Amino acid sequence: MLSVTEAQEIVLQLAAPLPAAVAPLTPACFGLILAEDVASDIDAPPFDKSMMDGYALRTEDLMSGKATLTVVEEVMAGQTPRRTLQNGQATRIMTGAPLPSGADAVVMIERTHTLDAGRVAIEDRPKPGQNILPRGREMRAGEMILRSGARLRPQEFGLLAGVGRTSVRVHPAPRVAVLPTGDELVEAPSRPGPGQIRNSNGPMIVAQVHSAGGVPAPLGIARDNVEHLRACIREGLNAEVLVLSGGVSAGKLDLVPGVLEELGVQAHFHKVVMKPGKPIFFGSRPNADRPATLVFGLPGNPVSSLVCFELFVRPALRKLQGHADPRARIVRAELAEDYAYRTDRLTYHPAQLAIEDSRLRVRAVPWFGSADLRGVAPANAFIVLPAGDFVHRMGQCYDVLIVEPAGT
Ligand code: AMP
Ligand code: MG
Repeated sequence: MLSVTEAQEIVLQLAAPLPAAVAPLTPACFGLILAEDVASDIDAPPFDKSMMDGYALRTEDLMSGKATLTVVEEVMAGQTPRRTLQNGQATRIMTGAPLPSGADAVVMIERTHTLDAGRVAIEDRPKPGQNILPRGREMRAGEMILRSGARLRPQEFGLLAGVGRTSVRVHPAPRVAVLPTGDELVEAPSRPGPGQIRNSNGPMIVAQVHSAGGVPAPLGIARDNVEHLRACIREGLNAEVLVLSGGVSAGKLDLVPGVLEELGVQAHFHKVVMKPGKPIFFGSRPNADRPATLVFGLPGNPVSSLVCFELFVRPALRKLQGHADPRARIVRAELAEDYAYRTDRLTYHPAQLAIEDSRLRVRAVPWFGSADLRGVAPANAFIVLPAGDFVHRMGQCYDVLIVEPAGT
């Protein structure tokens, strides 16, 4: 059986960034990775610009720290000054307005005193350039401002708009088909009848896909019979990634691996030494005209499904989107209190991770195993506990898997 690390390596080797394409710069691009270098088309700012509301003037007039100047003009943001400043003159200027020629500093309004409509008294000894943002200070026309590989966050949207871009070349968001399986499943609006349970994994996986930047396509529930499963899986294989839940263990109706094989999915692993999630399946189906479809068969117990998604599917989705480091987020944290735990396999145990006194501290939350999704609700991470029967001591350091919040 593979270790988690070995299995993760296999997944990342088979996931390659999706071919880049030009996309309109809409909110759908949020979080995507740029696949081109972007240059500015203009100098920014495009003119010497005032950073304050106040008076533009000549510093040589204020050598003594005091002067009364003649106000020759008023310039608002969006206007252009017409007068060149001579000695003894000032221009009333607003933040964002272009500096008049002849001026070499701006004194803020708080350091001035209006005498009458045409004259202002100033008490300041400005240095040349004070409160002025010179033309091209932020960027020059032709200069590279974003490199291929940058992630599109709100600030990148602002920068791209600033250089006139309305479309960009990006790695697209992968389409991810989501297919829960099981004869016992009913959807949320139904009250489960005898022997039935509600489908928790479907909506949970859809949310995880969304939070990982994928575009989820829920396919409904596949029943535990070969014909229905085959039809559903065939549809799911049209996506870039197919995520199934349930039907991958050793039960009589665990039909998923067999049907996948029949439909041309090559198995790369089935079972990983971990808890929860041991029966996880990973395979790929080659396509004639596009990259192979990646197929994950997550175990049906909800916490197994959740943890396996974080350890294997999320990194794959990040790699498909061109992230430079797609790996699962693991940090080291100190145990905040003693915790006795016995397990026969490396275990991802729900936990609370917090910054306390500038240090990362982690505490396990009460949890009875892979079926206990409710127990996971107070957790924001999973502490990695070794196989064996131990009392884990306060202050010892452990690996902790960070479960990313939505949208990142
Ligand atoms: P399986 O992997 O199909 O053997 O399922 C293992 C356990 O997980 C069983 O108790 C299932 O009823 C449960 N299970 C399977 N699929 C889901 C689902 N979509 N939502 C909630 N529980 C599920
Ligand atoms: Mg099942």
